[in-house]
Amino acid sequence: MEKKRVFSGTRATGRLHLGNYLGAVKGYLELQDRPDLECVFMAVDVHTITTPYDHKNLGEATKNIIMDYLACGLDPDKAIITIQSKVPEHSELSFLFSSVMSVARMQRLPTFKEKVAQHPDAVTMALLNYPILMAADILIYKASLVPAGIDQEPHLEITREIARKMNDLYDTDFPETVRFTTKGEYVPSLTGEGKMSKSIEGSFINLTDDLETIKKKLAATPTNSGKGTFKDVEKTKDFAAYRMILNEDGSEAKGVDALLKFVELFEGIEKRKEYEDKYLDDGIRYGDLKEELADAIYMKLKPIQEKRKVYEDDPTLVDKIIEDGAEKARKIAKETIAEVKEKMGFIK
Ligand code: ADP
Repeated sequence: MEKKRVFSGTRATGRLHLGNYLGAVKGYLELQDRPDLECVFMAVDVHTITTPYDHKNLGEATKNIIMDYLACGLDPDKAIITIQSKVPEHSELSFLFSSVMSVARMQRLPTFKEKVAQHPDAVTMALLNYPILMAADILIYKASLVPAGIDQEPHLEITREIARKMNDLYDTDFPETVRFTTKGEYVPSLTGEGKMSKSIEGSFINLTDDLETIKKKLAATPTNSGKGTFKDVEKTKDFAAYRMILNEDGSEAKGVDALLKFVELFEGIEKRKEYEDKYLDDGIRYGDLKEELADAIYMKLKPIQEKRKVYEDDPTLVDKIIEDGAEKARKIAKETIAEVKEKMGFIK
């Protein structure tokens, strides 16, 4: 039986953070162990150039993503691990796909609008094409499963739309891709506003942060009097269900939302319940909560940091993993491109 394929990637815009780890990499680790699946995990460096970036640093940032992947336990014997720009067929397929999507559809995407608000002076064609390139990343491997955070849902919708259009117009056999979800599918920002993201300063804890840095970052998360109430917010298509924490005056206590989510993810649901009880009763002492939480986060990160050192000390091994992965990926990608071009009418 043919194995089903899995694809996922991380932009090379900074180091991996807790959101990337819990929302995506935890899923990669689970899926690479399944014998019925063939996994492809990449540092998607071509996506990096869709927003302003430092070209002198792109190569290093890309390798850092691969080293973070390996440190987390991604295994080149179980999955293809490589860099997107080493498989140029992704960009070629992306151009072919752009012929079935309208400009208006792409401009309506909420993720596009967010980026336009973030970088009003850099609204490029590359930015508009970002989701089409992502569809090509996935469909060039005919991947039916994508481990990713909930923030990627609008992009996966585009991927499914492109697959349907291509299949209808050109009789291709692209699958209906779905997201593989994890418990950490939405990790909030340390600022209390929106999600944790590499490109939002002050929002993230990196996997490479030491205990002192983690403490300093948590110290900056806004809190309140320590008391209040909460209400449950239901899941929608693009937003995970969550418990909204309210201040004593009924307004949303955003930083506290984030802190309790971290407690849940790193210290367990029972610990979260203890804090919720205190919140309703005699109050949370945030100094103690943050101290305990910093220790719990660091305990999870320490083994990852130790493993990372092995790869930092052996750059030749990392390069070999990338090259071997690229060769395997290109083999599959070339087959898909040849098939699509033939079906679209190009001369062989
Ligand atoms: P970033 O926004 O930090 O640049 P990427 O766009 O590179 O992240 O995403 C890499 C992977 O990490 C994607 O699968 C994405 O869904 C996941 N991810 C990013 N941020 C979060 C978050 N705050 N919570 C859960 N998953 C996330």
